[in-house]
Amino acid sequence: MKNLALLLSVFVLAFQSARTPEPVPEQPEKFPKNIILMIGDGMGLTQISAGMYANNDKTNLERFPITGLIKTHSSKSLITDSAASATAFACGCKTYNGAIGVNDQKEPCMTILEQAETFGLATGLVATSSITHATPASFIAHVEERKYMEKIAEYFVHTDFDLIIGGGMRYFTNRYTDQRNLYKELQEKGVVVSDFSIEPLSQCTVSTQHPFAYFSALDQPESVANGRNYLPQAARFAPDFLRQRSEKGFFLMIEGSQIDWACHENEGDKAVQEMLDFNETIGEVLRFAEADGNTLVIVTADHETGGMALLRGENRESIKVKFTTDYHTATLVPVFAYGPGAEKFGGLYDNTDIYYKMRALLRFPEVESK
Ligand code: MG
Ligand code: ZN
Repeated sequence: MKNLALLLSVFVLAFQSARTPEPVPEQPEKFPKNIILMIGDGMGLTQISAGMYANNDKTNLERFPITGLIKTHSSKSLITDSAASATAFACGCKTYNGAIGVNDQKEPCMTILEQAETFGLATGLVATSSITHATPASFIAHVEERKYMEKIAEYFVHTDFDLIIGGGMRYFTNRYTDQRNLYKELQEKGVVVSDFSIEPLSQCTVSTQHPFAYFSALDQPESVANGRNYLPQAARFAPDFLRQRSEKGFFLMIEGSQIDWACHENEGDKAVQEMLDFNETIGEVLRFAEADGNTLVIVTADHETGGMALLRGENRESIKVKFTTDYHTATLVPVFAYGPGAEKFGGLYDNTDIYYKMRALLRFPEVESK
């Protein structure tokens, strides 16, 4: 009996150990070489929905495997502005409305673009506003108040970017605060500069041997409704250009700036047109990312604008949206992620986490703010 009991227990043990599951080999963590951050200014869920319905019920955002939501409030206000929100993405700190790349104490915070530049990556900013406007400015400049456009412009000479495309040439060429010609200063630094008065972006022949700046307007670029069409072109050109500028990878921010403006004006049709343009731009970026395989694409918004709603009586054939305000709202805004590291962007978190997730994925060491 004793032997039988022993035999049984051995058998049970053997059986148990046979049932112990094999440890699953852990998936090696994937890191992107390149990050393209796309910001739809003022692009809440209703803006996305309206653009989608107007586009035959389709949006390129359906191609993103990961979605998340972010809280957009600034340090002192529930309702953020684009400067505080872009600084949250760029530096990872909640700051006051109007702050361009400075923290709540008005001290400069080193941006993800400046870090990328420091660690040898190529960098680019593309916008359909002036390039000195709050959203792009927060990635490159450190200024206490967003309205100091000429001060912001000086940072484009000060910082070694690889590519900028946007309006606002007058803050470089026709300055009130001094007689500097920053257009010339950029050229003297070795940047190839062109602008709307010389040629459209699509006609530029650009060598990857030099950084490139293109001014799309003297002040603010036109709306899509008034014929602007360079954003999808820029999105086709920029990733490929930046890839050739550094073997270490690149950081690129692309902004659909005027979704916000259309919503401030409570112009639903205009907002839909800006959304269709941004959707096409996302398609161009995805085409690059799919072929490249090492590029993380993040699409998000700095805040919602207009308290936009789709109400009873709407139909897909003619979208007539309604607005509840002519300013921003504090509603959560979505995040879409595609590519290596995309899985980090699911869930509900603060807008500042976008910065920390990007920095962790690019594996930048801790940096001191300068
Ligand atoms: Mg903006
Ligand atoms: Zn706005």
